[in-house]
Amino acid sequence: MPTALSISRIHEKLLTDRHITLDLLRADRLHPLISGNKWYKLKYNIARAQTEQVDRLLSFGGPYSNHLHALAYAGQLAGLKTTGIVRGEKVYNKTLADCERWGMQLHFISRAEYRQKDQTDFITRLSTHYPGHYIIPEGGNNESGIKGCGEMLVGIDLQQYEQIVCAVGTGATLSGLINASPEQIPITGFAVLKNGAYLTETVKNNTRRQNWTINSDYHFGGFGKRNNRVLQFMHDFNTAHQIELDFVYTAKMMCGLYDLIEKNNWKNTRILAIHTGGVQGNRSL
Ligand SMILES: *Cc1c(COP(=O)(O)O)cnc(C)c1O
Repeated sequence: MPTALSISRIHEKLLTDRHITLDLLRADRLHPLISGNKWYKLKYNIARAQTEQVDRLLSFGGPYSNHLHALAYAGQLAGLKTTGIVRGEKVYNKTLADCERWGMQLHFISRAEYRQKDQTDFITRLSTHYPGHYIIPEGGNNESGIKGCGEMLVGIDLQQYEQIVCAVGTGATLSGLINASPEQIPITGFAVLKNGAYLTETVKNNTRRQNWTINSDYHFGGFGKRNNRVLQFMHDFNTAHQIELDFVYTAKMMCGLYDLIEKNNWKNTRILAIHTGGVQGNRSL
């Protein structure tokens, strides 16, 4: 991992008109193959597995999961075996082909089974079935994952910002960013799934701070769903800035951010938005 992520300043008439500076923290440029926050979430999980002398990692995800993709690669780099439990019937796609190429064993389970993935008896059954595996929750959402996410801000001069924004899936990234940033900088997370109300409770359990909110108005139909508006936004943003966003997370965040700015929020504010990566998932489009 680099000592500090790079930053791109976004130049746009809308922003100049509102006296806003917008910087994008480029976790998407972390690595040519593996990008984004998932990499950070794995750092301390892998370290723990190594301390516990466990040489197999197991986790969960959908067929285009950024998390399984990063896990397969990071596991191979660390010399650990990886197992991916994939939601739904067996499919082949580029994401899973990468995972297999990097040595991950894939096991497909039904959607109904997958829904139990956080329940204790399911995990117990799984540990019996896969003995000697270090089990990482979906999306890397645990204490080690949260701690790692905070490190996306390492080396960044945060004093120059008055607002941080990020996309929210499980809430681990948002929690890590909250814990790693100065209390006077408000943080807004854009939820990418429908019915994200529970996320507030989750994040509350992961932090003692109060300088954050979750905006649930820009899920565009729910997790993994998209409409023409968000796809058009992604396309226009890429054309204007040569920066690819991913349709599941960062395009929704940026579309929400721009919409709120158009509606006169955050005038005269210096904003840091986190590009959490995930562009490999665009291969499903
Ligand atoms: C997983 C992911 C997120 C969401 O992170 P959480 O910690 O689960 O909230 C955001 N952006 C991208 C690109 C992701 O892959």
